[in-house]
Amino acid sequence: MLEPNVIPKSEPTIHVGIVLPEDDFTSLSIQIPENEDYQIEFSGRSFLIEPKTEVFFKLTGEKITFKIGAQELNAENEIRLFPVFKSETLKPKQGATVRNVLAGRQFHWRKYINVTLPETLILRRYENRLILINALPLEKYLMCVATSEMGAECPSALLEAQTIAARSWLLANVEQKHRHLGMDVCNDDCCQRYQGTTFLTEHSIRGAENTRGLVLLYQDKICDARYSKSCGGVMESFEAIWGGEPVPYFKVKADAETEPPEWHKPLSDEKNLAHWLKSVPQTFCSPHVVPEETLKKYLGGVDEEGHYFRWTINITQEELVNHLNRQLNLPIKAVKALNVLQRGGSGRATKMEIVYLDSENREQIFSVDSEYDVRRLLHPSFLYSSAIIIETLPKNAEIPETYVYRGAGWGHGAGLCQIGALGMSLKGYIAQDIVYHYYPGSVLKKIY
Ligand SMILES: [Zn+2]
Ligand SMILES: [Zn+2]
Repeated sequence: MLEPNVIPKSEPTIHVGIVLPEDDFTSLSIQIPENEDYQIEFSGRSFLIEPKTEVFFKLTGEKITFKIGAQELNAENEIRLFPVFKSETLKPKQGATVRNVLAGRQFHWRKYINVTLPETLILRRYENRLILINALPLEKYLMCVATSEMGAECPSALLEAQTIAARSWLLANVEQKHRHLGMDVCNDDCCQRYQGTTFLTEHSIRGAENTRGLVLLYQDKICDARYSKSCGGVMESFEAIWGGEPVPYFKVKADAETEPPEWHKPLSDEKNLAHWLKSVPQTFCSPHVVPEETLKKYLGGVDEEGHYFRWTINITQEELVNHLNRQLNLPIKAVKALNVLQRGGSGRATKMEIVYLDSENREQIFSVDSEYDVRRLLHPSFLYSSAIIIETLPKNAEIPETYVYRGAGWGHGAGLCQIGALGMSLKGYIAQDIVYHYYPGSVLKKIY
């Protein structure tokens, strides 16, 4: 496991959660590859497994049972599967294949996919559920993250910038959302999207090799280099999204060489924001630089298609009431108003109130206190971002029939904007230019 606030002197091993307790797995199937010899270790025993074997693991009471050939075996608490021969580098589709792993855990497009995972697989029992961890050297992990996060056709400067941000974020290790499970990170957007070698390409292998050991530092500490898909034209501050003290390398800043004239400050003012949302300024993440039709070939394989820079989505009164009652467990009869109370520098709503009538027609208020919850609560499809203006139809109705959200960007918008970084690389900027633009004041350093 990584230690927080320790800069490693050599390449560390990291533990990636592939199946979490909340995924509700009690069985799991793993296919050993045809060209590698694997070993399985459990309860002090060890076996070689034939190539191409499919091993089916099942939780039975306190034990994990599985079959190898005709033999039925039991493991007490932990099973390790790993290739007998360690390989120096990684190849596309190298490793064992795990069937039906959850992707997009927290989103409406969640689906089950097969993933091919290199190096060591660790199966454990955790409170009557099976969990799965992939332990591997950090640089191999990063090769896979770059391609899982964005398509393999990305320009190399983008892959390199993305890899530097991912490496820094991981080693800064501030969030530690899954430490109690023995995982440094999970495999999904909650941390960084990781699908093993499933989509790995020679191109992304080079992206990691070209930046081996390179991290971003700010005053001798590794930067917590968080990133999102699209800022919408202006980058958000750290404190607007996660609270606490401002972090100097997350600035409210135009995602462009010069500030676009359409940016009337501050965007926390609704009039300015409405003007901003109607405009399509010349920022790196705008369709002027990255046409949205071409995004598909650069973005990873599991996202839905759509427009991300400027978008509009509607929800009817009935859909909203149903969604909120499901999410909040409240007796809401009608939503009278959605009022934004606070916004960050990119226009993202960070505090709002939902004014509603309860089952006895009494007016009540529910407070929403984070950008994440705004996105989660206002629409069952999870809004792309909370940089929104909310309109009602019909206008000035006491109980609106429809709420209309006009928005910008995709994700929290703080730090590196992935579509913007793509735009910069298409314009010929190198990786260093890109990371210095998104994390102003940071410096690159090779730590191993
Ligand atoms: Zn996570
Ligand atoms: Zn951007």
